[in-house]
This record gives sequence, structure tokens and C-alpha cells, in this order.
Amino acid sequence: MSLKGKRALVTGSTSGIGLGVARALCSQGVRVMLNGFGDPDEIERLRKAMIEEFAVDVAYVDADLTEATEVERLVRSAIETFGGLDILVNNAGVQFVSPIEDFPIEQWNKIIALNLSAVFLGMRAAIPTMKSQGWGRIINIASAHGLVASPHKVAYVAAKHAVVGATKVAALELANDGVTVNAICPGWVLTPLVEHQIEDRARVAGTSVNYESEELLREKQPMLTFTSPASVGSLVVFLCSDAATTMTGAPISIDGGWTAQ
Ligand code: NAD
Repeated sequence: MSLKGKRALVTGSTSGIGLGVARALCSQGVRVMLNGFGDPDEIERLRKAMIEEFAVDVAYVDADLTEATEVERLVRSAIETFGGLDILVNNAGVQFVSPIEDFPIEQWNKIIALNLSAVFLGMRAAIPTMKSQGWGRIINIASAHGLVASPHKVAYVAAKHAVVGATKVAALELANDGVTVNAICPGWVLTPLVEHQIEDRARVAGTSVNYESEELLREKQPMLTFTSPASVGSLVVFLCSDAATTMTGAPISIDGGWTAQ
């Protein structure tokens, strides 16, 4: 089966993994709704460049997904723009690093709102359309931190474990509706989210960014290589393919051996 003409919404797709996923879907002829923050002119340039490169429709809606009503508006506008929705990739996410006793409550609330509640709200808004079409793919970008923990990331680890749980519930509910629901659990992917952590580590330790990049990998990943956003995109394309029809409710690691330990 070809994905040509399918309609996708990828949250947080102005950067990093979400952009890699959006590009991979476009390369298969999928029409994509982008979302995320950034300079409006830069986003418009990105959108136009994707239309030119892949010869598919690419739309963009600027929604802050920490707001429940904005998640609903985004899903509704993807459905209205494309006349339906076949693929939902819940990807937008942020990180904050601090010991629990100092962890700011606002950061906890923001991470739970974006990394967890927006995933629930996105699925909730998209499921009726996918069920009525009899075909759908929901892919939640969780993390290795959806399966194992690290210190100082309490909100992120809690949210990502919960995303894996919510993915399983949705998979069970939709098992016979033609809609699969899976979670991708990447290890380290070199994106702005991780670059900021590396820069902070270098600043605190008085070391270089290169040194801290290697240290970051060495601490967690047996394979001392970053996963690319394009690889995560290819995994999303596979999960949308016929070969993955009976794959559902699965946390799928792409983590250089991080969680094999
Ligand atoms: P990134 O910072 O490069 O991209 C995050 C995207 O989310 C951007 O488009 C940003 O504009 C958007 N965004 C941020 N706040 C938003 C909000 N309130 N509303 C709407 N959009 C918002 O980060 P990334 O590394 O590409 O992360 C993408 C996802 O992958 C996240 O869920 C993250 O937890 C997960 N992840 C990343 C890694 C990694 O190593 N980079 C590993 C595992 C999981």
C-alpha cells in the first residue's frame, strides 16, 4: 500500500524529530500539517521548501499545545484542511532538568501539559475521525525515558512513562477499528532539546560541547552515536505501512542499546 495522499498531523514539527518525521512522511506523498514554535518567516520558508521538494500539500497551524483548547483546535483544523486525518504523530515535547526538591512547580505543570496531556487530547480529538474512516495510525513519540529513569528529570520521565501507558490503552480500545497506536522510544537524538542540555553541562562543568556530547552518549548508550531525526521519520513511515498492520500497543526502542542494559 502506498501512503500517497494520506493526511498527517505532526505536532512540534518546526524542529528536530518532528521535522524529520514530517519530511519522511512528505517524501512518501503524505499531506502534512506542521505545528510548533519559531520565527513565522522561517516557518513559512520551511513550509514552502517542503512543498517544492516533495510536491505535496504542507500546511501549518500555530498552536500552543500546553492549552487543551489549542490541541483540539489544531486537530480540528487538520481535519478541516485535508478533509480527514489518517496519521497523528504526537511529538511536541520539552525538557527541564533539576533535582525533585528544587523542581519548579510551573515546569512540572508545563511538561505534564505538553508531553502528556496534549498526547491524550490529540488522540481524543482524532480517534472519532480515524474510526469513521476505518483506518488510522497514531504514533506517540515517547522516549527511552518512557521505559527507564534518569535522575533530575522527574516530570519528563513521569510524562513519558504515562505516554507509553496511554498508548497501550488506546491500542486496546482501537484494536478492531483499523487504527494502530504505538509509541516510539528514542535514545539520544541530536536536536535543540538535547543541544541545550549539552550546552548547560559544558557551562556548569567548564568543559567543551564536544566533550559533553561524548560524555552524554557514554553515560547511557552502548552505541556511541546519536539517532537522526530522519531515522525516527523512517520508523514512523514503517509503522504507517501495511507491514505494521498488526503492530499495536508497542513501545518501540530506537536507542543505541540504552534500554537493553
Ligand atoms: P525540539 O526542541 O527540537 O523540538 C520540539 C518541537 O516542539 C519544536 O517544534 C517546538 O517548537 C515544539 N513545541 C515546544 N513547545 C510547544 C508547545 N507548547 N506547543 C506546540 N509545540 C511546541 O525537540 P526534539 O528533541 O525534536 O523533541 C521532540 C520529541 O521527541 C519530544 O517529545 C521529546 O521528548 C522526544 N524525544 C527527544 C529525544 C532527543 O534525544 N532529542 C529523545 C527521546 C524523545
